[in-house]
Amino acid sequence: MRLGSLWVSAAASVALGAAARAGVTVTTGFNALGANFTFTSVPVPADNDAATAARFTLVDGVGDRNGGGLDVLHDGRVPSGQDQPTKNFFFQAGTAGGRMQVDLGRVIEVKRIGSYSWHAGDRAPQVYTLYAAAGRAEGFKPEPMRGVDPIACGWELVARVDTRPKGGGGQHGVALAAERGVIGAYRYLLFDISQTESRDPFGNTFYSEIDVIDANGPAATSGVVATRLIQTRFEAENGKYRFTIDATDAPDLADWAEKELKPVVQTWYPKLVALLSGDGYQAPAEIALRFRSDMGGTPASAAGAGVNLNAVWFRGELEREALGAVVHEMVHVVQSYGRAVRANPNAVTAPGWVVEGIADYVRWFLYEPQTHGAEISKRNFDKARYDASYRISANFLEWVARRYDRDLVRKLNTAAREGRYDEALWQTWTGKRVQELGDDWRQEQARRLGGAKRSVP
Ligand SMILES: [Zn+2]
Repeated sequence: MRLGSLWVSAAASVALGAAARAGVTVTTGFNALGANFTFTSVPVPADNDAATAARFTLVDGVGDRNGGGLDVLHDGRVPSGQDQPTKNFFFQAGTAGGRMQVDLGRVIEVKRIGSYSWHAGDRAPQVYTLYAAAGRAEGFKPEPMRGVDPIACGWELVARVDTRPKGGGGQHGVALAAERGVIGAYRYLLFDISQTESRDPFGNTFYSEIDVIDANGPAATSGVVATRLIQTRFEAENGKYRFTIDATDAPDLADWAEKELKPVVQTWYPKLVALLSGDGYQAPAEIALRFRSDMGGTPASAAGAGVNLNAVWFRGELEREALGAVVHEMVHVVQSYGRAVRANPNAVTAPGWVVEGIADYVRWFLYEPQTHGAEISKRNFDKARYDASYRISANFLEWVARRYDRDLVRKLNTAAREGRYDEALWQTWTGKRVQELGDDWRQEQARRLGGAKRSVP
């Protein structure tokens, strides 16, 4: 396929880097949950470009042992998921990136350079400075370590790239091209790659593919099938929160998403943030929801600020559980427990029943109380243990909150998010141990249900 035909629109996202060689444009593309590396103005990765046979070398820095090594950067292939270390190259955790040299073998007229990355979080955006050289200058150093200015030893600055303003977790694509003609005649490229953040050891980008297009080479081909994106984007609270719903994988659900799902997301996400924070905590601001057809038996899941929606399950639940399930997953996005745990080595991971109990409490008691979806009945009384998770734990949380502390769920969530969940907190908040509370709650359910069995110790 000819690459030219894949350019859908070049207008949207051309952004000049902070500095670039005169006449080089830096075009960035971003898809929050990934869409086959298809961007509105960056071509899909090529598999027959000049980088395919080039030699990639680390000049400075160490590749992460869990990564795929430098070869995956020019094999024309891209990961199929957002967390596939072996399909990406990335510098070692806890290091500040490094320098990578690409030797094209001979001087070619470089028409375009592309870089592609994918991750759910901080390892998605790209931050690098690119230099290039023909290698013929006097005193040329092919492998300048950090601390050596490449410009002082025969290299030219091509561009500085920083895709962070475009978004966080998701697929990032960058295309460097000349305004007219070619970028230049070069044999060597030098990527000086930075981490995207240094708050934790996980700021090194998952690079998936590097392309170098020879102006005199064959038309670019790609094993990546360009996708026509079906997305709706909208905001809440004057742009404070931004959303994408991607129905590329389920065009038949696009209409429902626009009419039914969008208003719920727009109204409820800010509500969930208000409900569960109020302590200066910044919940994710860029949220992506994506219908997928590869989720097996999982109805929906949350990863970072992304929510995956199982298209098959949703088709059968549009009139029933679909919207509530999305509210549940959006609670997980607000919870962002993983982020806090990564930032704090002493963090305690909250038990699953707390995580899911809070999500289902919000869903069944605040979003859709009229459905009575989390009631304890004779049918499920046998399973009524406070830590039975999901809607049963939700019922327990509601009972404790009603009796002891209206603010309990928010406090519980804050403790879990900050990595300081501790059973002793129940005693602090209610004067009782969580097991005692669980017994009291269960006994009351038994009394209410009349003929049901007595509480078991
Ligand atoms: Zn859940």
